[in-house]
Amino acid sequence: MSYTIQQALIPVEDGYTTVDVQIENDRIAAIAPQLPINGTAIDGKNKLLLPGFFNAHTHSSEMWQRGMIPPVPLELWLAELYDFAPLDPEQVYLSALGTAVETLLSGGTSVVDHLVLIPGKEIETVAAAVRAYREIGIRAFVAPLIQDEALTAGIPTGGKEVEKEAFFRSTNEILAMMKDVVTQFHRPEEGINLLVAPTGIQLCSDALFTGCIELSDRYNLCRHSHLLETKAQQKLAREKYDCSAVEHLKQIGYLNDRTSLAHCVWLDDDDIAILAKTKSTVVHNPLSNLRLGSGIAPILKYRQAGINVSFGCDGSASNDSQDLLEAIKIGSILHTVTDPDYRHWITPRQAVEMASCGGAKGLNVSDTIGTLTVGKKADLVVYNLTNLSLLPRTDPIGLLILGRPTQVVDSVWVNGKQIVSGGKLTTIDIDELRQKLFHRSQWSSQRQSKTVTDIEVRYRAVMGL
Ligand SMILES: [Zn+2]
Repeated sequence: MSYTIQQALIPVEDGYTTVDVQIENDRIAAIAPQLPINGTAIDGKNKLLLPGFFNAHTHSSEMWQRGMIPPVPLELWLAELYDFAPLDPEQVYLSALGTAVETLLSGGTSVVDHLVLIPGKEIETVAAAVRAYREIGIRAFVAPLIQDEALTAGIPTGGKEVEKEAFFRSTNEILAMMKDVVTQFHRPEEGINLLVAPTGIQLCSDALFTGCIELSDRYNLCRHSHLLETKAQQKLAREKYDCSAVEHLKQIGYLNDRTSLAHCVWLDDDDIAILAKTKSTVVHNPLSNLRLGSGIAPILKYRQAGINVSFGCDGSASNDSQDLLEAIKIGSILHTVTDPDYRHWITPRQAVEMASCGGAKGLNVSDTIGTLTVGKKADLVVYNLTNLSLLPRTDPIGLLILGRPTQVVDSVWVNGKQIVSGGKLTTIDIDELRQKLFHRSQWSSQRQSKTVTDIEVRYRAVMGL
């Protein structure tokens, strides 16, 4: 299919300019004023055209628990999350669709789903998410979340002797499963990319990390993990390795320019130097960091050190939404309080670049997506600047990033295919999705997590509460 978007506003160095953009097959074929119409003509008048953003870290199936978990720190929150995680691939399919819809309608064209796997149905879980992403047409980076240690291993011991619970699967079984899903589902040319994604140092052995490094090298896969999200994890790393988590990951060879690391809240200056040197990417998840009391990641320091930073919503049970524009706004303005030198603060244009180009860089696809460039893949979003939330007319990107835009996404193309038109999804029936999400859930507010009760005493003691 071909399209010609007419008279859209695009940012240029000293402001904005009005251009036509031709899309041919999966690519941007031309960007210039007054091009001849090729294929379907799209009215871009009073609309802003930007490269699609990346929702660079989320967990789609958490959608079933959004709005549900009380305000508690990550370690207790996780225990509650896992006690009530969905056990049915059809639910995984529906929440992947829901995550994709919210991402697309808030400016995202790519999603990194650090996908929580149903125990015993790991391959079915990946299949369900992949089916959803193929149907809706979003560019997907599916990162099956793996660990080989039980949840209690993620809590520091404070030097006490603690009995280690065994995990229900061996490291080799997990790696064999990963190899299986990679050969079955990794199809980058079709917009479905698999990542190796050991959840983080808190629940993974070195053998698991090493196995993932091998898979990543063998199949050319990006690497994705949580890193030092909480103070407890910083303590745990010291207990486990007698050095920082970042130093340890460097030593085992996990960090490179295809590694993206979610959160990165508790890093010191030496750690920052390592991330810069290894060209790793930081995925900033400001909303979940606030929601779980994890802290404020030193994003301005990362940027000054030359580290690539992108934005993620994180899962819907710690956000509790998938509004990418909201994550970008909070993730930009939050840092003014960390550095009085306003020259370091993130401008709206820099935020756009982090969300698009930064996202692409962290997933090793910046040569094909992430900017408005002729020859690149057409992953594009058109915003309606006549929407009430973007009026009166001032600076379009300022309005989009610093304002509170509602229902402003008019059209979306992914890989040259238009999947949102006039603010509506063209590939799936939203009403049907809404009904299924409604009927498969119920209003509830009271539930008791057994695991939280079990580990809370130890957590409070170790954290000095
Ligand atoms: Zn996460």
